[in-house]
Amino acid sequence: MLTVRNPADGSVICELPADTAESVQAKFELARAAQPAWAGTPLEERLVAIRRFRALLAEQVEALAATLTSEVGKPIRQSRNEINGLLTRIDFFIDNAAGATADETVFADAAMTERITHEPLGAVANISAWNYPYFVGGNVFVPALLTGNAVLYKPSEFAALTGLHIARLLHAAGVPPGVFVPLIGAGEVGTALLAQKVDGVFFTGSHATGAKIAAAMGPRMVKLQLELGGKDPTYVCDDADPVLAAESLADGAMYNTGQSCCSVERIYVQERIHDAFVEAFVAAVRGFKRGDPMDEASYIGPLTRAPHLAVLVAQVADALAKGATLRCGGRRIEQPGHWFEPTVFTGVDHRMELMREESFGPIIGIQKVSGDDEALALMNDTRYGLTAGVYTPDEARARGLLAQVNAGSVYWNCCDRVSPRLPWSGRGDSGVGLTLSTYGISNFTKPKAWHSRKP
Ligand code: NAD
Repeated sequence: MLTVRNPADGSVICELPADTAESVQAKFELARAAQPAWAGTPLEERLVAIRRFRALLAEQVEALAATLTSEVGKPIRQSRNEINGLLTRIDFFIDNAAGATADETVFADAAMTERITHEPLGAVANISAWNYPYFVGGNVFVPALLTGNAVLYKPSEFAALTGLHIARLLHAAGVPPGVFVPLIGAGEVGTALLAQKVDGVFFTGSHATGAKIAAAMGPRMVKLQLELGGKDPTYVCDDADPVLAAESLADGAMYNTGQSCCSVERIYVQERIHDAFVEAFVAAVRGFKRGDPMDEASYIGPLTRAPHLAVLVAQVADALAKGATLRCGGRRIEQPGHWFEPTVFTGVDHRMELMREESFGPIIGIQKVSGDDEALALMNDTRYGLTAGVYTPDEARARGLLAQVNAGSVYWNCCDRVSPRLPWSGRGDSGVGLTLSTYGISNFTKPKAWHSRKP
């Protein structure tokens, strides 16, 4: 059994039957058997099912958001935002599925024709994270289903109820039970799934788990996509408005209680505006209401995972030991559930874990820099490469800097943002592969190259 707990107070929500090695194998065989008929179903019919799924999600936003908040602790308004955001992403996939996978004649003369067609990968594994289960799951299973794949979907053990709701709604919408198959359980169920002869692995989670999966899948020669963590930097230039930048970045650092893959995790501020920025940033963070995530006014909730409290405690201790200045927060809150004070440090540097390793919580370091060269060097001083941003009114300056940053997504005067129209990808230890954009649709197909000579 899998025990589902509420991270806001530690109470048990329910026990769910978990999968076993045997049930995982049976589910894989079910998906393998169901996939060819789904692939043979016209795209128009698959689109009908996904449109119905969208309609069901839209009808049930309130109940789905309440479940999400109860199991991951996401403040209720943010849970609603996530589900509504998935609706927009589904619209993009619906509008672009045909175009992204259309047959294409790329060359033709009197004798030869060259064409590209797309075939589904087959039965694919989608192993997902808990921090945005609708987003990171939907980025994979919606285009995978539209392109004719069967999906074995393992939601995080911390978002299992949401995973089961997603399966219920997809099945009610007309996706056959063998074509979308949820698997319930923790890492060992993921391992059992990957032991099956899946045709692709789409993983979202930590670098540590991603590295284990990459090692296990190495000899298997199937498509492997890993969307992993980050240590996303932002640089605030001397010509930026320090108050506007601070308000925007406080939200970027603390939204979802800092548990976003693209949360702002490091901030560099030019020394001339540093103090004004810090004052406004701390004021913004102090203004965020922390409390019961079911309360409409709450902006900061509990951490989803209890063991992560120790990571934040260790980062705080390390920063203090190395001379950082604590501006607010800094402690675990002693009450039932997994609570940590929103925390801001200044006087940080790259000797500190806080500036090197993913925090994935409501904690941020702000470092003073002399100018663009130092900021750029620090932004690139990381093993990750998910997102990076620059705040300045000067577009040419921002473009010049962002062109030199090694990250999959770059932001000018904004942060913590994902668009269905743009590819979402990491570099370095932030992973390999991509989701979203039209590339994130054709990604779930195998291109076939046709060389045809007329007789
Ligand atoms: P995690 O690595 O602990 O777990 C992710 C999933 O992998 C879960 O479903 C888990 O049960 C499963 N799993 C664990 N061990 C496994 C194994 N050995 N084999 C197969 N599956 C296994 O990560 P998490 O705590 O759920 O997610 C947080 C991390 O995800 C953060 O690092 C965050 O940055 C990252 N993330 C990245 C993106 C992105 O788009 N790049 C998006 C969201 C989250």
